[in-house]
Parts: sequence; structure tokens; C-alpha cells
Amino acid sequence: MAFSSFAQQKKDLPVFNLTKEVAEAHLRFLASDELMGRRTGEMGNRVAARYLAEQFRKYGATPVPGQSTFYQTVPLERIGASGKGELVVNNEPLRNNEDWMLIAGDAASLSAPVVYAGYGLEDTAKGWEDYKGVDVKGKIVLVQSGSPDNQTPAEIIASSNRKRQIAGEKGAVALIELFTVPIPWNIVTRNFTRDQISLAQGNEGATRTSLPHVWVNGKEARLTRLLRAANTTAQLSTEGRKSERIVSHNVAAYIQGSDPKLRDEYIILSAHYDHVGVGKQGGQPYTAEDSIFNGARDNAFGCVALLSSAEALAKNPPKRSVLILAVTGEELGLLGSRYYASNSLLALNKCIFNLNSDGAGYNDTSIVSVIGLDRTGAKAEIEAAAKVFGLDVVADPSPEQGLFDRSDNVNFAIKGIPSPTFTPGFRKFDQDIMKNYHQVSDNPETVDFGYLLKFSQAYTYAARLIADRTTAPQWTAGDKYEEAAKKLYVK
Ligand SMILES: [Zn+2]
Repeated sequence: MAFSSFAQQKKDLPVFNLTKEVAEAHLRFLASDELMGRRTGEMGNRVAARYLAEQFRKYGATPVPGQSTFYQTVPLERIGASGKGELVVNNEPLRNNEDWMLIAGDAASLSAPVVYAGYGLEDTAKGWEDYKGVDVKGKIVLVQSGSPDNQTPAEIIASSNRKRQIAGEKGAVALIELFTVPIPWNIVTRNFTRDQISLAQGNEGATRTSLPHVWVNGKEARLTRLLRAANTTAQLSTEGRKSERIVSHNVAAYIQGSDPKLRDEYIILSAHYDHVGVGKQGGQPYTAEDSIFNGARDNAFGCVALLSSAEALAKNPPKRSVLILAVTGEELGLLGSRYYASNSLLALNKCIFNLNSDGAGYNDTSIVSVIGLDRTGAKAEIEAAAKVFGLDVVADPSPEQGLFDRSDNVNFAIKGIPSPTFTPGFRKFDQDIMKNYHQVSDNPETVDFGYLLKFSQAYTYAARLIADRTTAPQWTAGDKYEEAAKKLYVK
């Protein structure tokens, strides 16, 4: 696009009339102490969602066609910390939360023979029949982790839930899993014994069961031998882990495109609005004077970019439609975007691009950094948009951090949608970034609001230029997500 045509449009486009005061007000509200770090499922998080929805409404965006509200409910489950318990195998006590831990289940006190059932899976199509000829009624089932064809940590954990379900249906009284994952065991115990939030189990094809489910360190030969010995019996007593449903929302706002031919297609503008909470929830140092993880940079900043887009694009829509999606649960493992990508409100194969905004912070206000810029086919538009607001674009700083796969964009990339992350300016993930990243010091007072405005304008203008393209952006040939794109966009 020639510079003269930018100059011509400048006067007319609402993006050029956005103000620093409005951007500042949004950020000061979303990152305020009153929202208590916007932790998923808590009041501050719900207030942030409400604020975003009502601002989208005010700017003239609407719920997605067919929806009556701006909210998409994301069903989540909070499971309490693994409490006290005892596991004794053939009179040998195992150390709780060291040799073994309770991964799920109600309080119990039981003693029963241990029966081995392979992977503990059944699937006729795949020929898995681990329970064939094995009677587990009233017994403790012992299984291996994973399956013959699941070896990534995420798959092993997902199949673990399925095993619990099957063991419960077969009438077992408890499930012991010899857990082997390519992750150090002490990291497994640290992460899985504390209270945690995940997508509710019903959403992964299994209903909840109260069956006590134990992971034993399956990489420890002594423990494997003990459990696999003939005529093993075990005593298990546990306080159980409390499980409760909690609710949080993705906020989805729609702006219909202006071109009758192209408006069936759309782009997704996304940013997560949740953060980590307050005090020990934050997992980082805090003091009595400042215990709130405000998340001004991470990611009230990106939310302001979404709000700016809503304001500017609703007034003067681009050719394709725009879905503005503020997602929850990012800090707990990209949960809101994962849920959305599997339960999308509009057909994903009509979505030509996702411009995500997220960031740890910035240390160079003359640039924006775009994770995945060279992979996702819209470099020209992004660079042109940044330039209009006096910003250069740095592609993929800190490749060693693997940032592309660490934010919500990855859940859209997995589906095949070209999805870079537009992030505040940094060239290196250095001390300057770390001093605020997930720290209580990430406060609104320390934000450069002039930069926030320019960043949001560049984001908004890039979104417009991409939504106005004649052809859809394509992954760079050979990219690891290119195959998914071929499946998604079948002609
Ligand atoms: Zn973030």
C-alpha cells in the first residue's frame, strides 16, 4: 500500500482519533487493586469480564450472531490440594506426596487386593482391551500411564482421567497408576499436589467419579516391583480432594464487515484478561504493602488494544467481520482459548487470521514485537500499521523462550489459523522485562500511557489492513502448523 493512501485515510479513520485518556482509563480500571489480580473464577475476574462486555456494547459491537450475550461460559473445575493420606503396599508404607500422591477422588479408607490391568484402557476400534478377563470388582486396579499411542505429557494426563472413569465403571475401589512422564517427578508432585483449576472434566468426554486415584512414581524401580509383585494387597486412606465447579467467561464481541462478499469471513482479535491474583496465588514475592498482582502489562495492556479496536472498528468496519475475543484462564494453562477453539461461536474455517495480543512487558517504546511475524503471512500489513504510528516491528525476539506456543494464539494455530502475538516492544527477555513480569510491581502507575495508545492504534490499524486484504494470509511453507491449515481450509 502506498503511503499516500494512508495519508488520505488518516483523517477519516477513527483509529487516528483514539485518545490517550481513554486508553489510560481502561488500563487503570482493569489493572486496579480493586480487581485483585483478576484471578480466574474470582470476583475481580468477573468484574473485568463485565467491564469489557459493557465497553464493547458501548462502542457498538454486538454479541456474536445467534448469541444473546457477550459471554461464553467456560466450565472449570477447581480441585483442592492433595491432603494427608497413607498408602501401605504389602506392609510397606509409601511416602505421601513423594512416592505417591492422590490425584483425584473422595475421602476413603480401604484395604484390597491389587490387580494389574495394563494401560487400563478399552477401545474396540484400536483393539485395546486391558480389562479382558480381569475382575476388578472391589479391588484396587494398577495400571501404567499413557497408552500404546499417547506419549506427550498432555496426552498422558488426559488419558489418566479416562482410566479413572473406566476403573470406576468396572467396580474398582481405587486406581493406582504407575506414572511415567518425560518430566522430573518432583515437578509433577509440585504441580499436581496443590490446588488447581482445569477445564471441567465433562468437557473432555468423562463425567466426574469419586474413585480415589493415585499416581505412584513409575520411574522408581523399587515402587514398580513392589506393586507388580504377585498377591499384593494395599491399604489406602485419604482425606480426598475437594472438587468444585467454577465459572468464568470468555467475552466475545462481533463487528460485521462492510463488504457483502467478504463479511462471511472474519478475523479474531484476542487477548487474555485474567491474571494470577493476590498474595500467594501469584507464586512470586509480595509484601503487606503490595500483595496484588495487578497485571497491568500482562495483560490489561492487550485488553486495551482490544477495546481500542472495538471503538475504532465498530465506527467504521473493515471489509471482513471482526470477532473480538477477551479470553479467561490463560495463566492457568491457556484454558479460555482452548475451550473457545473447541467450542467456537463462529465456524473456524471462516476465520482467516488471529491477531493475539499478550506480553510480559516492554523495554523499548520505539517498537512493537510480533511473535510469529515471519510465519503467519501478514508481515506487510503489520509493519505498515506500526509505521504509521512511528513504531518499528521486531520479529520473534527471544526465540529461546518459545513464546509462540505460550500464549492463546497457539490454540488457534493448532487449528490451522495463522496466529501471531502482537506484544509490547522488547528485543530481549532480559532483567528489564523480568522485573515486572508476574510481579506485584506490574502496576498501572508505571505504564507509559503514550506508548499504550500508539501500541493500541498500531494493533487496531493492523487488524483493519488484514481484514481488508484481498486474499487470506498463509502460513510460511513448511511451518509446523501448515498441515492443520490445509485440513481447516479445505476448498
Ligand atoms: Zn499474558
